[in-house]
Amino acid sequence: MYIDSHAHLFYEDFRNDLPDVIRRAQDAGVETIVVPGTTRETSRDAVELSEKYPFIYACVGFHPHDASKADAEGLKEIEELSRHPKVVAIGEIGLDFHYDFSPRNKQESVFQAQIEIAVRRNLPIVVHTRESMSQAIETVQSAARKYPDWKMNDNAGRGVFHCFTGNTDEARELFQIGFYVSYPGIVTFKNSPVVDTLKAIGLKNVLLETDSPYLAPVPLRGKRNEPGNVSHIANKVAEICSLQPSEVGKITSENTRRLFGIDRN
Ligand SMILES: [Zn+2]
Ligand SMILES: [Zn+2]
Repeated sequence: MYIDSHAHLFYEDFRNDLPDVIRRAQDAGVETIVVPGTTRETSRDAVELSEKYPFIYACVGFHPHDASKADAEGLKEIEELSRHPKVVAIGEIGLDFHYDFSPRNKQESVFQAQIEIAVRRNLPIVVHTRESMSQAIETVQSAARKYPDWKMNDNAGRGVFHCFTGNTDEARELFQIGFYVSYPGIVTFKNSPVVDTLKAIGLKNVLLETDSPYLAPVPLRGKRNEPGNVSHIANKVAEICSLQPSEVGKITSENTRRLFGIDRN
């Protein structure tokens, strides 16, 4: 059984066939799907999906692309939404210096403000980075120093760096302060740079994700991605780590449930 720890099921891409997408995920052994918001509206959509489907959980937050839209009222709504019983994290939040869709200083202040929401609510965070790994690691390290009690009562972890492309040292720095890293279909790509890191770090602090509708794994590259494809990712991770796919599913699902405080269905 697998958990897809990151799928944007609220996008237009799924408007016409979401029930089929979900049925295929269940047929592929996906027991739980975590849906992170990216704006006020999509955070509401994520919560709505979690109300409709018992095995869907939501995260709420402003993606760094949409940091410019995160005014005080928007951030207040994110904090209010985070009280919903199916909301398991603040996310996805972070820094994207590749596209720079929002000015960097705004991305940084909105990232910080949302970490503070997570601290107040004692929730973990889902972090997006692109060409911003060292800055994002520094930000969460300083939050961990400033708020030593944040999420430390339950030993479950403070968050996850999703679509992790960092090296082994960066992964270990994150593990030290209670973070996990998550791998999508990138592990299946030819000459993938993340394979060596994954081999070195093992699965103790690793989650799986599809990042649907993006990043479809081989052999579906270029197509719309969907949660059922997490099985392709698990198969590749199993090969990289010399394990059975079922063991990969078990370890990564336990990690995901622990981080997000999700009970077994
Ligand atoms: Zn992302
Ligand atoms: Zn995402």
